[in-house]
This record gives sequence, structure tokens and C-alpha cells, in this order.
Amino acid sequence: MKKVEILELLKDFIAIESVSTDPKRFPQILKASEFLKKNLESFGCDVKVFQIKDTPPLIIGLYSMNKKAKTIGIYGHYDVQPEDPLLEWRSPPFKLTQKDGKLYARGVADTKGHVIQNIVAIKNLIHHKKLHNNIIFIFEGGEEISSYGFEKYARNLQNILSMVDVFYIVDLGMPATNEPTISFGLRGIVTFELEIKIGEVDLHSGTFGNRVLNPIHVISYLISQMKNLRTNKVLIPRFYDNIKKPSKKEFTMLKKGILSVKEEMNKAHVFKIITIDDIPPSIVTKIMPSLDFNGVSSGYTGEGFKTVIGSTAILKFSCRLVAEQTPSDIIQKITNFIKHSMPSGVIYNLNVESQASPVRIEIKNDYIQKAAKALAKVFRAPTSYTMTGGSVPAAEILYRLYKKPMVMFGFPLPDSQIHAPNENVDEDMFWKGIKALEEVYQQ
Ligand SMILES: [Zn+2]
Repeated sequence: MKKVEILELLKDFIAIESVSTDPKRFPQILKASEFLKKNLESFGCDVKVFQIKDTPPLIIGLYSMNKKAKTIGIYGHYDVQPEDPLLEWRSPPFKLTQKDGKLYARGVADTKGHVIQNIVAIKNLIHHKKLHNNIIFIFEGGEEISSYGFEKYARNLQNILSMVDVFYIVDLGMPATNEPTISFGLRGIVTFELEIKIGEVDLHSGTFGNRVLNPIHVISYLISQMKNLRTNKVLIPRFYDNIKKPSKKEFTMLKKGILSVKEEMNKAHVFKIITIDDIPPSIVTKIMPSLDFNGVSSGYTGEGFKTVIGSTAILKFSCRLVAEQTPSDIIQKITNFIKHSMPSGVIYNLNVESQASPVRIEIKNDYIQKAAKALAKVFRAPTSYTMTGGSVPAAEILYRLYKKPMVMFGFPLPDSQIHAPNENVDEDMFWKGIKALEEVYQQ
């Protein structure tokens, strides 16, 4: 395919506002799935679209070469994160914009760019008669909402997915343009919303201060009980149970990417870098579970001052898990902890918003070795192995249900602004990515 045609295809895909967390844009989710269906059919794929109730449809595209050949499963997702804060975008989020050697748009890095790269790579291989394997495209539309419904689909489609010999999860990134990287671990996640209530109405602090609970005080107390500011450790009893430590060999691999404290500070744009138990900061995100407070609201924070004691407070927080922790165990521990730590006189509600398990892949595997070679060839540098602090729930689900080799990689760079305004990919990396995928899928 010519570059202009590829960019045109990407532009049309990007223009569909498939924001899965926004119910109002569900029609756009359907439109994006329709777009992919048409596209896969245009080069001879047998496409099936599955939909359970209000779940984003799962698209399966089969391209068969021959019954005796290997079958490759290629995973991607067609939904994206919301675009806000809109004012911080330097170009319209849903308009593919080329500028200074980069492509800007919501989803261009995560992961519509990857989806198009995968489709183009397979089309190119077919065109040049270099495709020898059977292909099964697996495209979901709920990844950004913790792969909502994916496990059900994956279980229902056993007749199709059990044909797969190896899964490729192309939804990650590279630490630098000359560092092809394959990941052998992803963290899991559980997100919580805690709502507390001390009474029915907001109160005057002059009249009621000293004689009622303050929801901000209660939330701050709970936060201080959950995590130590000095050691950065989570204080929930037995939170660190069931951690599978990386082997010596894996640890050596992880050490390759270590940055200095100064570099870490620049990368994060912060004034201080912290860690846990002296583990190098870049590794602590990958091998240790974490608890982060993501949002809190209560009282009055508008212009001027209001001497009020609010009646409610909301705290959003999340835990990232590592192998072999389970969401259900962590949910249990946090639920118990909140129950026992909550002062009397508070009514509360703790909701689990989403959950996904961690995954650790065995790297001693032919498919991984071959992919590493193919990536090294295209990027002209040896392939590194790492673990990833983020989560791709579908990877864990497919690995657990089908127990087939899995190769996880991708091409965005650390400054790709994934989930943030001005999301982008380096153009050169985009084209090289297609070449790399062609190399990988020829194996
Ligand atoms: Zn994402």
C-alpha cells in the first residue's frame, strides 16, 4: 500500500470518536467496528462481528492460507480514551495531523495506529505473496474500560480462538527509537470509588465545627492509614502477599533500562523521585504492586472562601497488581481494611469500578525469539526484554484461557502522550513498525 493510502485509512479511522467510556458515543463504537469489518473484508477476510447486549462488538477477521499452516492471532482495540482536557490539544483530537515528523490524534498511539499497521502489514504480505500463515484478527472495542465483556467473548469463541498457535499483542511501546522491546509481564489493576457521608446536609463551620465529623478529615485519615508517605509502602495488611519475584535472569534484563535519578525526574517532570526498598525507580513500577489515589472531592474549592463542612466526600483510588496477585484477594483486603478503619458515624459505599489480572509470560519461546530477531533487523539494534507497569486485560485473558505463546510489543515512544492531550506517534516509527510487523508475521 502507498503511504498516502495508509494515511488516508488511518485518518478515516481516527475521525470516528470511539470513546468507550462515554455511553453517548456508543454509536461511534459501532461505527468503528463497522469500519474495521468493511476494511478486513476488502482484502478477503472472512469477518464475524459478535455482540453481547450493550458490550462493544468483538471483530474476528479470518484470512486462511492453508489448513496445515500456523495460525497467528493478532490482537488490537478500536476504542480510545476521552479527549479532554480539550483546551490542551494543539490540533483537533479526532483529526489526524502531521507536524514536525509526528502524527497527532487521539488513538494514534493507543491503539488505532497499531490496528492500521497490522492490517497494512498483512495486506502487504498478501500482495507480495509472502504470507504463509493463517491470520485471525481479534479487535475489541472495550479495552479502555478494562476490556469490558472481553472474557465472555473469548470464552464463547473457543471454536475459533483455539485454532491460534501464537497471539501477538501489539499495544505497547519502545523506550527509544533504537530500542526494540518485547514485554514479558503486564500488571493487573483494580479501581475503586469510595463515597462517604457524615450527614444529610452541608453545615456552617462556625455553628457545627468541633461537634460533627468532617468528611475531608475522614478521607485524609483513611489515606494516611493506607499508604506511608515516607516509605511509599502500602499499609493494608498482607497487601504484598503472593508476589512472584522476577528470576535473576529477568532482573538482569530489567536492569538494562535503568535511568539516573535526574533522568527519571526529567521524564516525569517532577521535583523528586521516590521508590520502595531501594529498588531502582524504573523497575519498581514494573515488579511491585502499587496503590494510587487518583481523585478526591469534598467541601468548597471555588473562588473565595466558604466556611462549610461538607456532608460527603468521594475518593477514587486504584491498585496495580503483579503476578500472582489476584484482583479478588486485593478487593477483599481493601474492603476489610476500609470497614475496620472507618470511624463510627460515617455511612459509606465502596465500589469496585473495574478489574484485570496481571500476566507474566515465559520468554523461553521460539515465537518470542523470532520476533526479537525480526524487530532487531528492522530497528537495527538488539531487542530488549522488559516488564510493563500498565495493563492490557485481554492479554491476560487470552493467555490464561488458551495457554498459547504470546508476544507483546509496540512502537509508540515515551513522549507519545498516551491517554493525554496531543497523543502522537513518530512518523518514522510508524512506517518502520509496519516493516517490523511484516517481518514478524512472515516467520
Ligand atoms: Zn489505553
